[in-house]
Amino acid sequence: MIIVLKKTATEANIQHIAEKALKLGLKTHISRGVERTVIGFIGPEDKLQMIPLDTFPGVEQVMPVLAPYKFVSREFRTEDSIVKIRDGVTAGGKKLIIMAGPCAIEGEEMLLSIAKKVKAAGANVLRGGAFKPRTSPYDFQGLGEEGLRILKAVSQQVGIATVTEVMDPRDVGIVSEYADMLQIGARNMQNFSLLKEVGMIKKPVLLKRGISSTIREWLMSAEYILSNGNFDVILCERGIRTFETETRNTLDINAIPVVKQKSHLPVIIDPSHGTGRWDLVASVSKAGIAAGADGIVVEVHENPEEAVSDGSQSLLPKKFELMMHELAAVAKAVGREV
Ligand code: PEP
Ligand code: MN
Repeated sequence: MIIVLKKTATEANIQHIAEKALKLGLKTHISRGVERTVIGFIGPEDKLQMIPLDTFPGVEQVMPVLAPYKFVSREFRTEDSIVKIRDGVTAGGKKLIIMAGPCAIEGEEMLLSIAKKVKAAGANVLRGGAFKPRTSPYDFQGLGEEGLRILKAVSQQVGIATVTEVMDPRDVGIVSEYADMLQIGARNMQNFSLLKEVGMIKKPVLLKRGISSTIREWLMSAEYILSNGNFDVILCERGIRTFETETRNTLDINAIPVVKQKSHLPVIIDPSHGTGRWDLVASVSKAGIAAGADGIVVEVHENPEEAVSDGSQSLLPKKFELMMHELAAVAKAVGREV
């Protein structure tokens, strides 16, 4: 249930409602939009039915939220949310967010060199994994905390925001100390303990769609984060498992306009994991932007042959630069900019 407030509602009116809810054991979240201010409730809502909320001063309408996810839904917030990653770096507005970098952080020199190149080509966020979710326990698992230290050092030298994956609820604190944004990987999309944990921090979260998850399940996972208090969530379509074998995954272009209809959260695509093939990355990126995605996250490596992970889907920096020119043209055609 949400409460839509009258344009004339005062701060005191809002406080009055919040205090009443608190007495019933519910927390409130207030969304102040340009068109309307809405109050949402966190907790056992059935208790609210005991009080006539529509008689409270400042209340225009008491509305049930029909979607199973409520804070994530367009019913709760009609305008697009803009998520701030760092000063001057946002996702969800007119400007696209471009995240680029290696699959895994392999060392400081390599990351520094890639960071400089992707930034020069127009990326605003550096990606790179320090904790890697690998199918085989014998594959490279990431540099761990040393990787995080490298990420932060490079970020400071180059002046670029960062995103890196967190796989374990116990690491949320340490990853938050080093990175501007935390990534929840596809394999952890339904790790509910992890979702609750990142719901309690004050850093933005990049939530990837699970390998075999429906859009509804994905949005429910986002709801875990928002309902724990963190509204700074960016969704990422990274391809789903289908019967097709030409590509590693099938990037679900449909998901972009579907999510845009159902939610106010920004949505980006990951054409690297979505295809598994560097030669398809530019085409799929352009398709994603044309379909309304708010940006991309793409893997870039200077020597893909030697990459410790995902070399075959990584772009050379030069190819990334070329792709950025093409993306700029598509962005312009759909009223966006890079
Ligand atoms: C990654 O970004 O390197 C990654 C492992 O992604 P996903 O969780 O989408 O597979
Ligand atoms: Mn990867």
